[in-house]
Amino acid sequence: MSPEKITVLGAGLAGAEAAWQIARRGVGARLVEMRPLTLTPAHRTGNFAELVCSNSFGSALPDRAAGQLQWELEQLDSLILAAARATAVPAGGALAVDREQFALTVTEKLSAHPLVEIVRAEARELPAGGVVVVASGPLTGAALSASIAAATGERHLYFYDALAPIVSGESVDLDLAWRASRYGAADGDGDYLNCPLNDAEYNAFVDALTAAETIELRDFEKNDARFFEGCLPIEVLAARGRDALAFGPLSPKGLDDPRTGRWPRAVAQLRQDNAAATLYNLVGFQTNLKWGEQERVLRMIPGLQRAEFVRLGQMHRNTFINAPLLLTPGLELKTRPGLFFGGQLTGAEGYLGNVATGLLAGVNAVRRLRGEPLLTLPATTMSGALCHYLTHADSAAFQPMKANFGLLPPLPVTIRGKRARYAAYASRAREDFESANGHE
Ligand SMILES: Cc1cc2nc3c(=O)[nH]c(=O)nc-3n(C[C@H](O)[C@H](O)[C@H](O)COP(=O)(O)OP(=O)(O)OC[C@H]3O[C@@H](n4cnc5c(N)ncnc54)[C@H](O)[C@@H]3O)c2cc1C
Repeated sequence: MSPEKITVLGAGLAGAEAAWQIARRGVGARLVEMRPLTLTPAHRTGNFAELVCSNSFGSALPDRAAGQLQWELEQLDSLILAAARATAVPAGGALAVDREQFALTVTEKLSAHPLVEIVRAEARELPAGGVVVVASGPLTGAALSASIAAATGERHLYFYDALAPIVSGESVDLDLAWRASRYGAADGDGDYLNCPLNDAEYNAFVDALTAAETIELRDFEKNDARFFEGCLPIEVLAARGRDALAFGPLSPKGLDDPRTGRWPRAVAQLRQDNAAATLYNLVGFQTNLKWGEQERVLRMIPGLQRAEFVRLGQMHRNTFINAPLLLTPGLELKTRPGLFFGGQLTGAEGYLGNVATGLLAGVNAVRRLRGEPLLTLPATTMSGALCHYLTHADSAAFQPMKANFGLLPPLPVTIRGKRARYAAYASRAREDFESANGHE
């Protein structure tokens, strides 16, 4: 065993997994968790890996993104996945847990491990040296946030996300939507997919949007005046007046509909979201609508009737760094070798994505300590694709992302039908994962 310990800040989903991966490689982990002495506004207990939202880890089916990620985590001997399976409750095709038993299992496993030292204290700054994994999550407190900001640059640490929905490009109806840039040539070379709304469609859309149900904000979000600053949810904007959207994010100016040669009443624009051009985000559509409502209302937009949503919009308190700018593909800070980030701080969304990034950060922390090359998984695997996105996305417009098949490079052949296509993605991911992971 190496005498040097790796410090892990935060024993949430990512930090608990990172500490486990470090210890199972024979290296000591110092796991620093501030609860129960200091609680976050969302956590209630002192248990590690406390789930503050849903008790579900998503679909367990092999041809779903969550199912594929579970398979990869299983191959990597994930503590969180094992604890989830050991405390599972019936949930159809999903992996859902008894949240208390789940958190207790994780806490007990780590507490019993001889190589894990548990420190119950608030980390107020990043350790000055040594190998460190920072996994203090979406509610990282002010003191540690200031220290992270000092290490990463003030401008590259964010406290809120305002996510616009993302759809798969192939699910947009190109008989209705057309490709063009504002005032650019509508000849197929434009950067945006444009969905036109006529008067009746626009009015119906505004009515539906303003009547749709929204997600209740948490108290600490409601009371934070900075929350909506400069970034209004689309439904709030729509409620300000019938024309507000047409003069704002749905402005048709400079967008001649090739079928009429005229500007429509309004245009919803979709911007390419990944280099492979498989994902498109709805520009200016940050929203707090409930998820079912979002799908229903957004499918009223011509061209999006059969849209497949790979991410729905949301706005909430969330601390994350500009990972594409700051992190290497091994989740290490470019400017400080030995300092790794995992979990929601990297911009990973969703429980399993947070576990996967925590796992990789832990594995790579050990590799850094031992002077070995860092591990990056192929971008054709689900965990590899997520880390690839986080470290290669457009840094100017970076927002958190959940694991989804749209992040994977396109298949070499076109496969019709979503289920068959997903099964092909999953089978390629497993093959590539197995060949790459032979060394782990
Ligand atoms: C506001 C909010 C937003 C969320 N957004 C999402 C979302 O977008 N998608 C999603 O799937 N889930 C979300 N969740 C749910 C969930 O928090 C995350 O998915 C998941 O828990 C993140 O894992 P993590 O390990 O990064 O952070 P956490 O599970 O929150 O773990 C971080 C841990 O670090 C500890 N900690 C924090 N600061 C310090 C410190 N200074 N010193 C010592 N310990 C510290 C915390 O107590 C906690 O135990 C959200 C929860 C909240 C409260």
